Amino acid sequence: RKWTQFGLPPGVLEVIRKHLKFEKPSPIQAQAMPAIMAGRDVIGVAKTGSGKTLAFVLPMLRHIKDQRAVNLGEGPVGLIMTPTRELAVQIHREMRPFARVLGLRTVCAYGGAPIKDQIAELKRGAEIIVCTPGRMIDLLCANSGRVTNLRRVTYLVLDEADRMFDMGFEPQVMKIITNIRPDRQTVLFSATFPRQMEALARKILRRPLEITV
Ligand code: AMP
Repeated sequence: RKWTQFGLPPGVLEVIRKHLKFEKPSPIQAQAMPAIMAGRDVIGVAKTGSGKTLAFVLPMLRHIKDQRAVNLGEGPVGLIMTPTRELAVQIHREMRPFARVLGLRTVCAYGGAPIKDQIAELKRGAEIIVCTPGRMIDLLCANSGRVTNLRRVTYLVLDEADRMFDMGFEPQVMKIITNIRPDRQTVLFSATFPRQMEALARKILRRPLEITV
């Protein structure tokens, strides 16, 4: 498997080339990316360290670039939800060089930090939000809903879904999803995939392809 086979934007390949450790796609990347880039909903069962972050980030970047004709600046196109602040920061950091080379703006929004800085960033506009569920709800409610909205989101990621639901974020996640159009593409990553999550996944994803590494 080679990085050049996915149809990624040239700028993205350039950043990958600069990361010498990214010699070739990891197994989860090689398996999940073609399905995601074909537009399928995907459930990826993979742990941290597998390279799962780029497996959902790189297809998202192409998804957004493909929609460049739409008027960006009226809310994000890509939304990534993850259970903890540390994970949100980590995803955001890993994504940044790729987003930058494509001229895409990203915001990282999590609890336990002043909401007003995050509101200011969102008001400036962003194509991608990485967030924790509780803070995303607060941001959607802030200033009577004038800070941001999810009407343009067409690519949704639930990362570390098992942890997210173990931590009790199901109501928040489901509430956020009611703000997102049903014809979106949804990608769910989880270290485990227990029975209860199958039922939840059925409510959130459409005919998902399940990939386990
Ligand atoms: P993740 O599983 O997404 O948390 O990634 C674990 C680590 O692997 C991160 O530090 C990534 O930068 C790195 N990584 C991601 N993809 C690759 C790859 N194809 N080859 C080598 N390292 C990678």
